[in-house]
Amino acid sequence: MSRLFDANYSCIDRLHPSDLVKTATYTWRHLLHPCSYNQAIACTTQLKRQPALMCVTLFLSNYNKRTNFLDDLTGFLDRQECILEAERLSTRARYNNSTLCALWISLNRFREVNTSFGHQAGDEVLARLAQRLAEQVSPAHPIARIGADEFLVLLPDIPLATAMALANRIHSALREPLLVGRVTWRQSCSIGLAKLGNEPGIGLLERADQAMQEAKQSQGALLTATAIGTDRDSQATTLKREELSIEEMLHEAMENGGFSLQYQPVIDVISSQVVACEALMRCRVRGENLTPDQFIPVAEKTGMIIELGDWTLLTAARTAERLLAAGHPTRLAVNVSRAQLTAPKFQQTLHALLTVSNLPPSLLELELTESLFMDASPAVRCNLDAAVEAGLSLAIDDFGTGYSCLAYLKDIPANKLKLDRTFVKHLPEDRKSLAIVRAITRLAQDLGMTVVAEGVETTQQRDILMNAGVNALQGYLFSRPLPETRLEAWLSSFEGG
Ligand code: C2E
Ligand code: CA
Ligand code: CA
Repeated sequence: MSRLFDANYSCIDRLHPSDLVKTATYTWRHLLHPCSYNQAIACTTQLKRQPALMCVTLFLSNYNKRTNFLDDLTGFLDRQECILEAERLSTRARYNNSTLCALWISLNRFREVNTSFGHQAGDEVLARLAQRLAEQVSPAHPIARIGADEFLVLLPDIPLATAMALANRIHSALREPLLVGRVTWRQSCSIGLAKLGNEPGIGLLERADQAMQEAKQSQGALLTATAIGTDRDSQATTLKREELSIEEMLHEAMENGGFSLQYQPVIDVISSQVVACEALMRCRVRGENLTPDQFIPVAEKTGMIIELGDWTLLTAARTAERLLAAGHPTRLAVNVSRAQLTAPKFQQTLHALLTVSNLPPSLLELELTESLFMDASPAVRCNLDAAVEAGLSLAIDDFGTGYSCLAYLKDIPANKLKLDRTFVKHLPEDRKSLAIVRAITRLAQDLGMTVVAEGVETTQQRDILMNAGVNALQGYLFSRPLPETRLEAWLSSFEGG
């Protein structure tokens, strides 16, 4: 530790303040991880080198916006920091003409620990497995927690064969029996190994991930070393690289308040009243707007949607409160993703939200896809029941896009069915779409649901959908999604006219 430290320390007096911060960043990354903030401070104090302490303090103050770059549970680097570290080490490897390997470790069937023993026990098991992993890896090699049950080890200056041997040792160490309550659990894992080719650090991580997925699919195989930069994978790699850069942008947007909601009205065909407004998430980062189709799938894959979803629910509830106070008792509909509904804390979010706000629960609606209503897992069922019990209404979103099973419709606790835009898009020409719209509308209404058609852009579409018996319409014909500031004015003029 002190060897590296001295290298930085010796020239510290001559550094420009901005370089000092850079050096501190370097010192922090090299000397002090993986360890917590407090451990780091203890370490530097122990060293009793004032410039070093100043250096790290400066770094930390500069890093104020993002002090949580270590994973709380394991003390390993978190995902975002791991990407930065991979970039830095790959640049260094290229510069020094040395090697860099990455091991992607995914715990098999870890979800079963959570479902069988509860999340607290799950966390304890994870922490113990993380400790075993750390015991196998040299302190000089960064370890990161990159997913709930996935870890990554970066191995600079290590030949492929040595990395393979290490992967085998890790596999055996994790497999050792572990007592969970009174049950002995043996944790297996899938490991992917990749060696740096002519690519950025992110490329290395992607190939380690792919290798891990292959190991997982070819059950029993512990490990697959991927070929370096083959053309076969180039398409998949490009997509994934884009996802990683979107993930970076999402973190930035989270830190800088880049998320907002817009609201799109839904109009009743008979009364011409606004029956609801759908809250739609927007993300602006580095002066650029990302579309939901770009960022929602990434937020879902990385689990960020859970935090974002909580934010959306709270923000929509506040908007609904303000609209109510301004004389518009408008129901707001919020989209909810699978990851949110499988997380136990969803119920707590709902309860907290209804407790802190004065909002009547009937003014909130959740939009869920069919597959979620059909999901029999206890977590999803519990969360849906809790939402219904709390008095929220539920809508089936994008109906007709999945493998719709009509038999399920009778058991679904939804009051509303939203017909997907694909059925509306080619009206009035597409008679087959119209036939489907008519049949579904009739069926849903007989089952006690109201039917909303999405994506209505023309007056012909409006008329044909009204004739088909649809209850409400949503689309650019009435309004594009609007920011809250413009929504109130829109509602006033629409209701007035
Ligand atoms: P969705 O739930 O089906 O939302 C309706 C989408 O249709 C919105 O796209 C809306 O802007 C668009 N739309 C509305 N009227 C028209 C029209 O007349 N013509 C056309 N061409 N499009 C129309 P957007 O805002 O891009 O959202 C896309 C999807 O992203 C949403 O589809 C939803 O699945 C997801 N999404 C958006 N916000 C959230 C959110 O807060 N949470 C979650 N989990 N998903 C969200
Ligand atoms: Ca929706
Ligand atoms: Ca929809």
